[in-house]
Amino acid sequence: MNRAQERRGPPGPRRRDAGGPGGRRFYNRRKVCAFCVDKIKDIDYKDFNRIQRFMSERARIAPRRRSGTCTKHQRMLSLALKRARHLALLPFAAEHVLSMGLASR
Ligand SMILES: [Zn+2]
Repeated sequence: MNRAQERRGPPGPRRRDAGGPGGRRFYNRRKVCAFCVDKIKDIDYKDFNRIQRFMSERARIAPRRRSGTCTKHQRMLSLALKRARHLALLPFAAEHVLSMGLASR
């Protein structure tokens, strides 16, 4: 008795690409999330060259309105940034630079 059962992969639900049927050729009227454009699913904290562009000079995370990042990616972005900070890839605050030195009397 041979029972050779081969699994051909789980029949999970297919994901549709957001956007609906048909490929429209629209250039971005609105500001579109930079990560969606590049089709990035997971924002990697090691990719800090990319994500640091979404930080302000004062090492704050850019608000959504400004960066145009969608909700989904904004969330991942902030998480990635926080991780990157933790690993000292990115600064916590600009005050680090200013804190010491000339403030003596
Ligand atoms: Zn996005």
